[in-house]
Amino acid sequence: SKAEIGLIGLGTMGAALALNIADNGFDIAVWNRTTAVTHDFHASAGDLAPRITPTDTLEELVQSIAKPRAIILMVPAGQPVDDQIAALRPLLDDDDLIIDAGNANFHDTNRRAREAGDLPFLGIGVSGGEEGARFGPSIMGGGKREYWDRVAHILTAISAKHGDTPCATWMGEEGAGHFVKAVHNGIEYADMQMIAEVYGIMRDGMGMDNAAIADTFAKWDKGVLQSYLIEISGKVAAATDPKTGAPMLDVIVDAAGQKGTGRWTVIEAQHLAAPIPAIEAAVVARNLSSQREARAAGETLFGTAPHHMPHDTLTLDALEQAMITGKILCYAQGFGMIAKASQEFGWSLPLPDIAKVWRAGCIIRSAMLDDMAAALGEDAARNLMFAPKFAELLKSNHAALRQVVAQSALHGIAAPALGSGLSYFDTMRTARGTANMIQGQRDFFGAHGFARTDGGEGHHGPWGS
Ligand code: NDP
Repeated sequence: SKAEIGLIGLGTMGAALALNIADNGFDIAVWNRTTAVTHDFHASAGDLAPRITPTDTLEELVQSIAKPRAIILMVPAGQPVDDQIAALRPLLDDDDLIIDAGNANFHDTNRRAREAGDLPFLGIGVSGGEEGARFGPSIMGGGKREYWDRVAHILTAISAKHGDTPCATWMGEEGAGHFVKAVHNGIEYADMQMIAEVYGIMRDGMGMDNAAIADTFAKWDKGVLQSYLIEISGKVAAATDPKTGAPMLDVIVDAAGQKGTGRWTVIEAQHLAAPIPAIEAAVVARNLSSQREARAAGETLFGTAPHHMPHDTLTLDALEQAMITGKILCYAQGFGMIAKASQEFGWSLPLPDIAKVWRAGCIIRSAMLDDMAAALGEDAARNLMFAPKFAELLKSNHAALRQVVAQSALHGIAAPALGSGLSYFDTMRTARGTANMIQGQRDFFGAHGFARTDGGEGHHGPWGS
């Protein structure tokens, strides 16, 4: 009998996804550019091998799948996806479905959906790394709803489950799924950066050793901050280097890599005029982290920073509260960006369902997303920081964020994401801001006009000449 679905690209993610699909009882046909990889994969599939049909040519792959066919692409984003679609399409029938499950830029997915015309195409974002792909990722789908419905039974079966709820959701037309995945990754950057900043405060400001830092993260993982990233940060801090016996963190170079999805989110946010300063700060921090030589020169030139804080300057409770505050503000920004995109692109993105699909399987899974889903369910258009549950948390915790950011500044410890979170909070709770000065300046040099507090638009100042 023929396979229910096909998959192209047996790399890290594709192999794990294929095993997951077979493990859930679906017969799958697979093909990989390098044929030896296909055979090795099949040979090592163990009990699942009978559900997997290895194929050596694209023609053979297509012939092995039941009609109407569905084929998942798990190849590197960009040109390989276009090349693979071009090679595959002529072999397919008009109602066969191609699913790009890689990390495509959503603009590319928009274009591919348009280029496909009436030929079925989906772009789905898959989060959770290799482990997620194998045992349950979070899946964000985009494309025509009818195409999603054709494969939804497979995608929900293989997805992560939060309780009984599958973390696989159709987000909207065209690139909506890849867009939501990009914002997920942007939030991931900010979550990770805030954790790294708090680690820096504990290490450099408070003089804590790795074991104490690991214990702190482990403790936080039992409270409001419970999340995968806090959990693994504790494990990273606790690990020992097998080679030297030193704490693992102490032998890892402080220059962060990136594959670009955080950057895409920031670029898109600027196009949308959607403010996501905590995410921007996180992307900038990764870029700066790679300037190691300049940072070393700076330390020599400007004196040794950061400094130790006097004992009792900050408590660990204050750090936890600062993290809670920063995290809420970061998610408020991320969801705000999604709401703006939904309007701009006419997508009707389901904000509460996005919070729900992130509750399991993906990298940013956390306890807080449950409350976020509920808050967005009440009112998806409202900034998350104004939802009663989060407003209460902000009221009781923002003073701690202020303490942490202020003490970091006083002791020369960079905390850009936490700091930008605080500025965002202060901006968003200031009724009378300072853009009146900007408007005055703009009118002065460019006669751009301004609105008056006592009414009317297009007024000009008495600057004259
Ligand atoms: P890998 O590098 O592990 O695998 C890439 C696969 O694509 C290999 O099977 C390779 O075949 C194939 N391939 C590469 N170039 C081409 C090409 N030009 N034409 C056809 N096939 C090609 O990548 P990953 O599995 O890590 O990533 C795949 C996709 O999933 C990417 O878009 C990535 O961004 C995304 N992703 C990755 C995650 C991760 O944690 N790794 C998480 C979420 C998404 P061959 O054996 O011949 O080289």
